[in-house]
Amino acid sequence: RITVLGSLNMDLVAYVSHHPAPGETMTADKFATSTGGKGANQAVACAKLSRPRPSSSSSSSGTAATTTTAHVGMVGCVGDDSYGALLRGNLARHGVDVSGVDARAGLKTGVALIVVDAPSGENRIILSPEANHAVLPDDAAVAGIFLEPESTKKPDLLIMQLEIPLATVLAALARAREAGVAVLLNPAPAQPLPAAAYAGLAHLVVNETEAALLGGVADSASLVPSVDAEKVPAALRAVARAFVAKGVRNVVATLGSHGVFFLTADGRSGLVPAEKVAAVVDTTAAGDTFVGAYALEAVAAAAAGREFDVEAAVRKANRAAARTVERAGAQDSIPWRDELV
Ligand code: ADP
Repeated sequence: RITVLGSLNMDLVAYVSHHPAPGETMTADKFATSTGGKGANQAVACAKLSRPRPSSSSSSSGTAATTTTAHVGMVGCVGDDSYGALLRGNLARHGVDVSGVDARAGLKTGVALIVVDAPSGENRIILSPEANHAVLPDDAAVAGIFLEPESTKKPDLLIMQLEIPLATVLAALARAREAGVAVLLNPAPAQPLPAAAYAGLAHLVVNETEAALLGGVADSASLVPSVDAEKVPAALRAVARAFVAKGVRNVVATLGSHGVFFLTADGRSGLVPAEKVAAVVDTTAAGDTFVGAYALEAVAAAAAGREFDVEAAVRKANRAAARTVERAGAQDSIPWRDELV
């Protein structure tokens, strides 16, 4: 069982030939709306990556049903509007338990305004959190994550990002620690965290921007290996070491096409190359796909009682995220389990 405590947003996406300059009005080549929010994306990633595509499962009825599918629950807040209904419906359609997603009267559902530079696939995003700001530490659904051990609701892994109030994330971290629930924190969008946030954290998944901000490094580019040198920059290793020193068991830094650096509390480390992709179409939800795939590996290892192999998990997650990069959209671009070869 995986529970994601986080954001749900409606993505309004314009595909353009170049990012507009200040004051420039331009015509988009294409416009699309899609369901998003880092929390919802990561919940969908966990669900899709642990299930075969529905059409293929119906043709091979018996076998598909017997393979393990992760129970994925989402906890968060939407408004009582059409976007909120659409977001909840879409999560449910992918098999995510939405009983913890509250549709709050009088609030609007969060939106993300996304501009994708079509030639490079690079995105720029403005978030308006709306109902995501109403996810508070004492909400029944948040409290419900940490019911007694005999409760079927207690997750094997709690996944959080920073698109809901920091106070809620910090309260959940503290409760998870007390309840012995493993946590994966993806501190995005980056904001400074108190030292207590890292203590006992099972997995910290950061990109270079988040690593730089949290690690107190002014220039995030100094954390990325140069293209030809397969060498981990000393600054990146130092930042990862500092996270481990604060109590993180597994530090995972995703560096886009430059690969993923990991460092564990027991001293294992490595730089895993990114998968080669035919064409970078849209990097939206690539990081979320990575988190989902990695989380499934962590939960599977715990369920089987075997030691977690971070490097193997990173390789799988890279494979999954590469598929997402090759396709347009957020949740729609996340692959199903049988799309990973
Ligand atoms: P974020 O989107 O959070 O900034 P990254 O850019 O590091 O995170 O991307 C997350 C993951 O997506 C990477 O670790 C990698 O697995 C995959 N990915 C992103 N960009 C590429 C790329 N150009 N080629 C291959 N994989 C990529």
